[in-house]
Amino acid sequence: MNNGEHAEDFLTSPKVLENYTLLQDIGVFKYIDEMNREIRSYKSLLGSAADIFNRTTINDIMDATVWQISDQFLPSFIVFLWRPLHNREEITIKGYKNYKMIDLSLDLKTISPFEAFFQKYPKPINFDLLVYQLADDEAIKPLEELHPEIVVPILGPSGLYCLILIGPKMLGDEYSSRELSYLGGLMGFVSQAIQNHLHYEHSVRDVKTGLFNHGFFISRMNEEIARTKRFRTVSSLIVMDVDKFKNFNDSYGHLAGDRVLEYIGRSIKKSVRSEDIPSRFGGEEFTILLPNTGKEMAWTVAERLRMAISGMKVPWVPPLPQVTISAGVITFDERSGMTADEIINRADEALYLSKARGRNMTTVWGMGLLFRIERELKRQREMAESPDLAAPETPDSRI
Ligand code: GH3
Ligand code: MG
Ligand code: MG
Repeated sequence: MNNGEHAEDFLTSPKVLENYTLLQDIGVFKYIDEMNREIRSYKSLLGSAADIFNRTTINDIMDATVWQISDQFLPSFIVFLWRPLHNREEITIKGYKNYKMIDLSLDLKTISPFEAFFQKYPKPINFDLLVYQLADDEAIKPLEELHPEIVVPILGPSGLYCLILIGPKMLGDEYSSRELSYLGGLMGFVSQAIQNHLHYEHSVRDVKTGLFNHGFFISRMNEEIARTKRFRTVSSLIVMDVDKFKNFNDSYGHLAGDRVLEYIGRSIKKSVRSEDIPSRFGGEEFTILLPNTGKEMAWTVAERLRMAISGMKVPWVPPLPQVTISAGVITFDERSGMTADEIINRADEALYLSKARGRNMTTVWGMGLLFRIERELKRQREMAESPDLAAPETPDSRI
């Protein structure tokens, strides 16, 4: 066949017709069929890869992978055992049946025991073979209850990221070698998509708390300011700072302090909406950018967080005392005309008043706040000079 000539042209050539029996006898047509099937399967793998690469969150990657696998052959279930943090023995379990998520209670805490095996054998494997290889390992027991048919390891430079457990086919027949090879190809693409996701996450997240980092917060602040101008909306910013944290570190140590910051991060993440941007501004300071949120709501969110943190339990030996935070809130809209720095400075002024008035409290920035700060400082000076004469502190923190 000359270059550029199509297979159909070749098949209808009179010479082929003359030698039809010969070509069939030596298996040329069978070979062409086989090649066509292989090309179709590569095309489908490339389609799957493109779909998986377009996803940025781990949940979306898992959804797309389930979709692609279920498109090839209908497995009775697909379960992901995903290790979200590489330095931790912790896994997330996500199961799907007929494309839908299902609840699974697998008594499995780690996938580490499988790591050494899959480093040596980085391929999809029949589950019975895996059981045979790891018979002495306790970790295989919970998986035996589930009894998948195929186990697909997802590996990358930092080791085993994930295991995909695939149940028997709905229609009962065995997985063919072509299907296993499709899964092998898919494995590489899922691993690459997970690595892209991890690189992205590392570039925008703070490692200690899992919240967004300072750089990401500032760029989202600038976007939000532009958005309030374009759509004439109102947004708010909460700035929070842990109270007397230096004393805490001095008494309980820096590691206990780090654990507290991690738990504050979790508490913040739990209490905000998905469109909010909770960040670690630096040290023991946090910011929460609240798009489309007015003053009342922002104050409510700050108070809810302040109370959640003051009631938070952080496991540690010896037991740790409660920590509290102080907060400052500012609202901005298209008329404010402030830069990100100006907005943050004002939220800081409100935070400063919360600190000055005794900590563990929220203050909303408003006109007259500087005056109130001056008055508070004066009150504290007077109190230091003659405690009996000083005016009582006003309880209202909202201005
Ligand atoms: P205030 O109520 O006025 O905020 O008092 P403070 O002691 O919290 O304020 P200061 O700014 O003097 O101290 C902040 C402390 O936060 C000092 C530092 O040791 C601690 N800190 C900052 N970042 C970290 C961190 O990543 N881990 C730990 N453990 N401590 C940190
Ligand atoms: Mg501070
Ligand atoms: Mg502090």
